[in-house]
Amino acid sequence: MKLFSQVADLHECLDGLRAQKKSVGLVPTMGYLHEGHLSLVERSNEENDVTVTTIFVNPLQFAEGEDLASYPSDLQSDTELCEKIGSDVLFIPSLQDMYPEPILTSVQVDDFTKRMEGESRPTHFAGVATVVAKLFNITGPCNAYFGEKDWQQLQVITKMVRDLSFRVCVIGCPIIRHRDGLALSSRNAYLTTDERQSATVLSRSLQKASDLIRAGETSSVDIQKLIEREVASEPLVELDYVETVDGSSLIPVDEIVPGTRILIAAAVGKARLIDNIDAFTGITGFSS
Ligand code: AMP
Repeated sequence: MKLFSQVADLHECLDGLRAQKKSVGLVPTMGYLHEGHLSLVERSNEENDVTVTTIFVNPLQFAEGEDLASYPSDLQSDTELCEKIGSDVLFIPSLQDMYPEPILTSVQVDDFTKRMEGESRPTHFAGVATVVAKLFNITGPCNAYFGEKDWQQLQVITKMVRDLSFRVCVIGCPIIRHRDGLALSSRNAYLTTDERQSATVLSRSLQKASDLIRAGETSSVDIQKLIEREVASEPLVELDYVETVDGSSLIPVDEIVPGTRILIAAAVGKARLIDNIDAFTGITGFSS
């Protein structure tokens, strides 16, 4: 595995590979890697000649008072995991290398970023879109792998790529979960034992909702109420939002139909956790 920290070195490497007509897969992450991240690398390995995994904790997507300073990090373990899973390149740029001077340009994807995460974290998606645009330009034409865990982010990036004609194919990959349903997340590291136990209510309530929908329930309001009740039964979990939306446009729906996605966010202790499901499919993707 080749390890780079400088943009110019990565460019040189990728230019050489492209000259040999190698296809490139990109897996952008913020590190503290788990099986969810690694599933993206594996998928990229299957579909490309070369996989580039990136680790960069992007300050632009954190607001004042969020967990930028405490975001978990273990670059040694991350490097070993990337090597083991077969990432060809690991790019870990420094802050200085990514933002050598104050950045004055920002990518704003309207509408898709108004609700849910965008409402709770108003500057978040501009930070995400800007750094992902930067990583796309640094990497060049590629297949880029993102987790459905961050469903809204996946739609925002897909829209950005269409709107700005990036030569990138965005590929969404299924959510990987613990056996008890909790979606893997670097932020799960913040949870105490009790909070970790309580946090399973997110996936549990989504699964219950999906069971009801498959039994014939179509009312978004009733499904949202069910999830609110379930989450309220866990005192350590504070619901931020539950929304039923069209999975592609993210527009809220009154009636649940095929293609509807249910998204949820909650605070559990120091962690802000998100999860989502396809309304008719329910929970899938348990880790080994
Ligand atoms: P992050 O490091 O949290 O920014 O995540 C990097 C990428 O990994 C994003 O595309 C996430 O959606 C994806 N990801 C994070 N957790 C999971 C998971 N449990 N299953 C699948 N993909 C995930």
